[in-house]
Amino acid sequence: MRARPLTEIAPGVWTAVAQTWTSLTTIVVAPGGSCLVVDPGISVAEVESLAVSVHERGWRVVAGFSTHAHWDHLLWSSALGDVPRWATARAVAHAVRIRRDARVDAVNVAPGHELELLGRLTALPDGAAEVPWAGPRTLVVDHDGHSRGHAALVLPDTRVLLAGDMLSDLEIPLLDVDAADPLGDYRTGLDRLEEAVRTYDVRVVVPGHGHVGDTGELTRRFVADRAYLDDLEGVAGTAGRPRSTDPRLTLVPGPPAVLAPY
Ligand SMILES: [Zn+2]
Repeated sequence: MRARPLTEIAPGVWTAVAQTWTSLTTIVVAPGGSCLVVDPGISVAEVESLAVSVHERGWRVVAGFSTHAHWDHLLWSSALGDVPRWATARAVAHAVRIRRDARVDAVNVAPGHELELLGRLTALPDGAAEVPWAGPRTLVVDHDGHSRGHAALVLPDTRVLLAGDMLSDLEIPLLDVDAADPLGDYRTGLDRLEEAVRTYDVRVVVPGHGHVGDTGELTRRFVADRAYLDDLEGVAGTAGRPRSTDPRLTLVPGPPAVLAPY
């Protein structure tokens, strides 16, 4: 199998793009070659060819991280190795609750995965502020909004934000509509991310779906996401207000995007 193309977006931080939903995988590589794999891809070929890329470069996967409990972020392959795959405790609990549906979605969209590995996660210790691995410091910024227990990661040494399914240039904010306050949760999530961006002077954002962005893009995406939430609130609260004109709405196929569980 061929290696999967990787792009180094910051020193020791590599991304790969999947065909489905422009999903982004990130590999954080320690100076000695140990690496952390975040959201490894969608199709079997993508995940397995990622393992080829790792091996060809002489790297060694020592940990994984799932940003949240949606099936497309819960995939893995034995080719990547049997390592702890971290997620927040609440994301792990949610992954258990949705396991059956996640398997169905995986079979339908990306058939052939080792389903026993889907969502086999290890909860971060209570109150953990970092991913427990020996590589570059990897800070956890957990919040709700898109999915309960969603976590972005901040790499303070390289000033990179791995945003999970937030701050995308292609995907509008997708809310956890089963939550008591979906809009409030999402706003709080954006606030937490913005605070992290400010605190660590983040220069690069890697969304779960879409394209890597710089500081200008970060600013633009915060504005766009909040404007979209304002639009949603208006639609929900005041008859006759215009619907959102967010151009990302035209990019998402299928059912009403706000309900899509990705
Ligand atoms: Zn998602």
